[in-house]
Amino acid sequence: MKEQLTIALSKGRILKETLPLLAAADITPAEDIFSSRKLIFDTNHSHIKLVVIRATDVPTYVEYGGADMGIAGKDVLMEHGGAGLYEPLDLEIARCKLMVAGMKNAAPVSGRMKVATKFVNVTKEFFARQGAQVDIIKLYGAMELAPIMGLADRIVDIVDTGNTLRANGLEPMEHIADISSRFVVGQPSMKIKHAQIQPILDQLGAAVRAKRDQEAQS
Ligand code: AMP
Repeated sequence: MKEQLTIALSKGRILKETLPLLAAADITPAEDIFSSRKLIFDTNHSHIKLVVIRATDVPTYVEYGGADMGIAGKDVLMEHGGAGLYEPLDLEIARCKLMVAGMKNAAPVSGRMKVATKFVNVTKEFFARQGAQVDIIKLYGAMELAPIMGLADRIVDIVDTGNTLRANGLEPMEHIADISSRFVVGQPSMKIKHAQIQPILDQLGAAVRAKRDQEAQS
């Protein structure tokens, strides 16, 4: 009898790119995730279930054993801090950059800089490493608005094409980290259910390499 395994998936943008990778590793949901309001999904394997939750909750579920494994962006994992998690695989999907941005041609900030972000921990650490003391303003979305409205001098946010910044008169200023989605495993699950988790890791790793090779050829 196989042990039950649960994989926590991040809702939204990442999910579309996640499902083909899982399918390549022979894990497919029993019904269409996008047209369902369910949170838990059976799969083609009776012992594997998928839960679909907010990206920021994925590391928390995996850390505390609410799920054995999960898929989350490196931005979310950096902000969480990675306690209790192994990060064995870079899925190389949902690539973007975490950046400091501000108004185009902004004058240098005099005095203490105000930085608006939802990545409070990462931002604190980034500026602390530069020896800069900044005031961090926690926001939950639409960070680009903060400098326009005079709420902050800078923002720390995800940048992909840069279109959102440009459309709001902002520009990227400093690169903090390259981001992609990662496969994470809870430390107790890795120990106790290793025999069943390792084949999933192997298959996902092979799917990532196959996709990489395919992209290199096209
Ligand atoms: P862009 O206009 O292409 O630079 O996209 C920037 C916006 O899309 C940001 O405000 C992000 O919130 C969101 N975004 C882009 N890529 C990702 C990603 N890989 N993961 C999460 N959010 C993203």
